[in-house]
Amino acid sequence: MHLSGRTALVTGGGSGIGKACAVALAAARAEVHVVDKDGDAAEAVAGEIGGRAHIVDLAEPAAIDTLPVEVDILVNNAGFQHVAPLTDFPPERFALMQQVMVTAPFLLLRRTLPHMYANGWGRVINISSVHGLRASAFKSAYVAAKHALEGLSKVAAVEGAQYGVTSNCVNPGYVRTPLVEKQIRDQAAAHGIDAADVLADVLLARSPIKRLLEPEEVAAVALWLCAEHTSYVNGASVPVDGGWSAG
Ligand code: NAD
Repeated sequence: MHLSGRTALVTGGGSGIGKACAVALAAARAEVHVVDKDGDAAEAVAGEIGGRAHIVDLAEPAAIDTLPVEVDILVNNAGFQHVAPLTDFPPERFALMQQVMVTAPFLLLRRTLPHMYANGWGRVINISSVHGLRASAFKSAYVAAKHALEGLSKVAAVEGAQYGVTSNCVNPGYVRTPLVEKQIRDQAAAHGIDAADVLADVLLARSPIKRLLEPEEVAAVALWLCAEHTSYVNGASVPVDGGWSAG
């Protein structure tokens, strides 16, 4: 696939799935803006792919206002996890997760859709999760945020269709990234079990395929959604979860 002449913006592009998306889009010849609050990571990825780094905390709406508007492919990817029972969940942590994982994607859509509409072409790819479709214990803020992102994506799909803009979610199961490595430690504490048993007994318990997903496998789906032959795929949620949501 050739994305020459297209400009992409990937949030959380400094690590994990975002980095894999930035690499895949650049390999398809898109110009890539790598947005991350971790400046070193953003610079490293941008340097590797010949893209441009933007050091921005997506929890700050004023910082989002500094990002480019001329974007053809928006990948809303940045996110993080907090594991705690509902009764103990810190309210400020809950609010921050909605801010970064729902409000920031909304603000970025608001900012970049006019350019896509004017060009008659655009792709919005929201990195949701199997937790955009299913719940798990101890993940109230994350499950709420991902379900909200699903709704936002569908509205963008309905509004954007007449302008040649599609919006879709990708719904991965557990991916081998720093986010999951941290979660294995947190889940061990929350469930009171050994970190070594978390992978088999907690994370992969509901996945028929008993392995972690690789970030490049998620990026391949994001890239597929940028193709011309997938321009009729709109408002969809594409599970890449080893069959978890089929069960
Ligand atoms: P990661 O921790 O490897 O990378 C996330 C990146 O986002 C980091 O570089 C981080 O600095 C950046 N980021 C976080 N908060 C930010 C903020 N406020 N402003 C700017 N940048 C910020 O995580 P990952 O596993 O690659 O996850 C990426 C996305 O994929 C998340 O939305 C996550 O919910 C989703 N996801 C991950 C998995 C998984 O198993 N890893 C599964 C399903 C969905």
